[in-house]
Amino acid sequence: MQNQVYYLALIAVIDRRLDELQEDVGELPDQLQRARQAVERCQELANETQSIIEELRTFRAQAHLTLQELRDREHRLSEQQFRVRNNREFDALTREIQAVRAEREHIEQELRNSVVKLENLEHILQRQEAELLHAQQEQAELERALQLLSNNQNEELLQLQRRRQYWAEKLRSELLAEYERIRTFHRDALVPVRRESCSGCYSRITPQRLVEIRMYRDRMFRCESCGRILYPEERLPELEEAEAIP
Ligand SMILES: [Zn+2]
Repeated sequence: MQNQVYYLALIAVIDRRLDELQEDVGELPDQLQRARQAVERCQELANETQSIIEELRTFRAQAHLTLQELRDREHRLSEQQFRVRNNREFDALTREIQAVRAEREHIEQELRNSVVKLENLEHILQRQEAELLHAQQEQAELERALQLLSNNQNEELLQLQRRRQYWAEKLRSELLAEYERIRTFHRDALVPVRRESCSGCYSRITPQRLVEIRMYRDRMFRCESCGRILYPEERLPELEEAEAIP
């Protein structure tokens, strides 16, 4: 029978590399998600400012037309004043002219205000557009980083998963299940014995057990303190060995 614990060690070596790859990706997806939300927020703010600016511009265009109409009317009313038949008619025209003038002045004041408002809003829009651009650049950078990482990793990942599957099929299922169970507590479920200690929790291992671990290659030894599977350091396979096709 093949050495079952050795297969377990091969799987552990592969799992360590898979965990490393997972760590490389790490925070990137979350960061990208936040960057996308930031872009959306910036875009909304800029759109809002843009629509207020357009409203103001429409008002200004309309106001210019209205002013022209009011001036024409004022002019016509002034001319009528020369053709009045009595004081009462003259006074009535005067009141009408005053009303037209008041309306004109009100609109002119609003037009002047709108100039300042427009200037402010255009500054705000510039700043918001700069922020939007910055957010978009950040999003693009994160997307590139994630893309690059997954491109580089995909091949290795697939290869590792295939090899893991290969070794797992050779392993007794209860042994693999036990290993997986330990891995829910300790990601490094199988660790080398180093300096006569468990390299997972640094507990000392008795000389008697050290001898046994070296002697009985196909027996699974667990650390009495942390429960990790112990493996002789000098026999721990390299990643290349785990990846190689036998
Ligand atoms: Zn331990």
